[in-house]
Amino acid sequence: MTNETNENDDPTAQPRATDGGSAVEPVDDASAGENSEIVEVFPEGDLDLRAGADDCYKCTTCDISCPVAEVDEEFPGPKFQGPEQWRLKRKEDIDIGDSITSCSNCMRCDSACPSDVPLSQMHNEARGEYVDEQMSVLSREYIRNRILSNYRTSARFASKVPRFANFMMNFGPVRWVMEKTLGVTKEREFPEFAEQTFREWWHDRGGAQVQNADKRVAYFHGCYSNYNTPEVAKAMVRVFEYFDYEVLVPPQQCSGTPMFANGMLTDARRHAVTNVTELAATIDDGADIIASCTSCSLSLRQEYPELFDIDRIEDVAGNTFEALEYLRIHEDLEEALSDAELDGQSFAYHGPCHARNQGLHRQAVELFRDVDDVHVEDVGDSCSGISGTYGWKAEKYKTSMKIGEEMFDHLERAEGDTGMTECPTCAMQMEHGTGYEIRHPLQLIEDALLA
Ligand code: SF4
Ligand code: SF4
Repeated sequence: MTNETNENDDPTAQPRATDGGSAVEPVDDASAGENSEIVEVFPEGDLDLRAGADDCYKCTTCDISCPVAEVDEEFPGPKFQGPEQWRLKRKEDIDIGDSITSCSNCMRCDSACPSDVPLSQMHNEARGEYVDEQMSVLSREYIRNRILSNYRTSARFASKVPRFANFMMNFGPVRWVMEKTLGVTKEREFPEFAEQTFREWWHDRGGAQVQNADKRVAYFHGCYSNYNTPEVAKAMVRVFEYFDYEVLVPPQQCSGTPMFANGMLTDARRHAVTNVTELAATIDDGADIIASCTSCSLSLRQEYPELFDIDRIEDVAGNTFEALEYLRIHEDLEEALSDAELDGQSFAYHGPCHARNQGLHRQAVELFRDVDDVHVEDVGDSCSGISGTYGWKAEKYKTSMKIGEEMFDHLERAEGDTGMTECPTCAMQMEHGTGYEIRHPLQLIEDALLA
């Protein structure tokens, strides 16, 4: 089954794969146009984004949609970070401005642009170049960003001793030292590591409980569902098994989302190679790929083919779906939920920016709209402000909370005092700003169908 919502299936539509800084085939000079002065803007053979830059007609819609630009008057906004910067680079090989590190990679500008300028691709490229060429690997910022973006590595160690890690990561003096030495804010509560990871649970239960070659999905659970919220991953498995799917859980690494946001493209590429290879093998076994985190699904669908040139990457991108999206396409969820008894629960739902980019930010509200005994209220289209690792940086914490103010306010005015979202870091921010318990839509479906 091919993912029809992905717009990046046609590799000839525009040049894009830069391979995270590795050389690829150079663009044919003739494509630059007869009157263009041919300059070597991308001497390492990287992607030529001039065509995308020329599609910008300076309407500033992207700037208006940018949550960082709204609260930080020093941030020049997506138009500058994208098409303007690439135009300047056409004239001379200028350095990337350090304001690129203030872009949170929320990708709202992507969906706002009426001219399909590949803004987040330009930002990711610029951030990668900035980190590679202008950031000292000995700087505090580089070390902190590398640790934050390789969350999977820290989580793997922490999950070996979860109680100790949970105590230490929220122990005041430790957090104070982390802020002073690394610049990781001490204002946030560190998410708890589960005593049993999802993959351990999966192994202990003996893997899939349903065998069905006709309905097979490969689950990309990502790091957070594995180490911190295995209850979301378990709900995913149980709900899909309820609908008679055989669930595969292939070996996998981080989707790369935090690495893109921190310009660590070489790390992201390394992880992407494993993911693409393993997920492509499941496609050969008849599976579609599903993710319960909207940033993971966006990464596999959009950022991978935009940034890397890896064998079968388009195949993986074209067969990836967000879990709820997949069920809504292939099953009659409304019918299945029609007899559910949910005891009059009310939820305040936040649609993550990365769900918005996939057109999925209304799906939970639409799904539960007609279910008796449950009320899911959309708290509006503002950004939560945390954007993965962004809100964990001490110098970005205030900006992150300022962006989140509108969402906090709407959450508190909503009928329910339990939050709902598909994104684990939006969930962190919602909880941090309001104290609400946050659930994933799959957990509510699990309650409705399997309780
Ligand atoms: S929204 Fe698109 S066309 Fe308008 S200024 Fe931004 S990049 Fe240019
Ligand atoms: S990705 Fe988000 S923060 Fe970055 S420029 Fe676009 S809208 Fe602004």
